[in-house]
Amino acid sequence: MTGNALEMRAVTKDYGPVTALAGVDLDVGRGETVALLGPNGAGKSTLLTIALGLRAPGSGTARVLGRPPVEALRAGRIGVLLQESGLLEDVRVADLVAAVAGMYPEPLPPRQALRAANIEDLAGKRVGRLSGGQRQRVRFALCVVGDPDLLVLDEPTVGLDVEGRRALWQELRARTGRGRTAVFATHYLAEADDYADRVVLLAGGKVIADGTVATVKSLVGGSEVRCDLYGGDPSELEILPGVRQVSIEGRSVSLRTNDSDATLRGLFLMYDDVRDVRVLSIDLESAFVTLTGGQS
Ligand code: ADP
Ligand code: MG
Repeated sequence: MTGNALEMRAVTKDYGPVTALAGVDLDVGRGETVALLGPNGAGKSTLLTIALGLRAPGSGTARVLGRPPVEALRAGRIGVLLQESGLLEDVRVADLVAAVAGMYPEPLPPRQALRAANIEDLAGKRVGRLSGGQRQRVRFALCVVGDPDLLVLDEPTVGLDVEGRRALWQELRARTGRGRTAVFATHYLAEADDYADRVVLLAGGKVIADGTVATVKSLVGGSEVRCDLYGGDPSELEILPGVRQVSIEGRSVSLRTNDSDATLRGLFLMYDDVRDVRVLSIDLESAFVTLTGGQS
């Protein structure tokens, strides 16, 4: 097989007056696990449905596994978990999973998908009787049962409890470990931090950052120096080496810096009365808030 798992070139999508995607370029290599992050309305779901061939782009092109997304979907190469997608209500869980397995050329044994989603005990239940979290696990079973090359998941852990989340990520990791590709949208930054090789940050229908979790964090300055200042001119904090951003509240100072060692040296040289100095690493959450301009 040739080509990336997913390729998007200058993809746009408008819904009437609303621009959901404003020109997205994205390559996802085989075997990668990519987290799509962004505030509500950023265009994550739109991007994923275009990647799945469920929606056509307004302009630009999308290809999945070297062919148009619709073809890849029909050929059973893509597993799908969509936000709040409907499920057949009046069938038993095991029968639904088996029916979807039948749509793929080389599916897993349905029992294995039930086990992967931790719902073996629900096999005989009717879908209509399930709780929200249980339904989400069924969606996950349907996503993996075809043993697809590309798994596309839109906010897969919404509604799951801690144990359900852990099980889902463990299973997804096992699949990507075997060379499968996963692209998932999430609101939970910790999930991107823990499970993705790469983070694509979307805001206002554009990719505003793309790289490893470490790269995205470093875009907003690698770490944060906090201290209390009891003298000196705070307006000169900006010229300390490495500093990219300064915030001051009373005596309390926070400096975003690319080079905390250099910043600290300068800080102690320039300010005699600086106290309670700490260096913190920036978490993905702060990077996210800075890069998306605080919308969430
Ligand atoms: P996200 O998944 O990041 O929250 P979406 O892709 O769902 O973002 O939405 C992007 C933008 O497009 C939002 O402004 C949303 O309101 C709008 N939008 C999404 N789907 C539709 C639709 N079917 N009709 C009209 N507007 C839509
Ligand atoms: Mg969405």
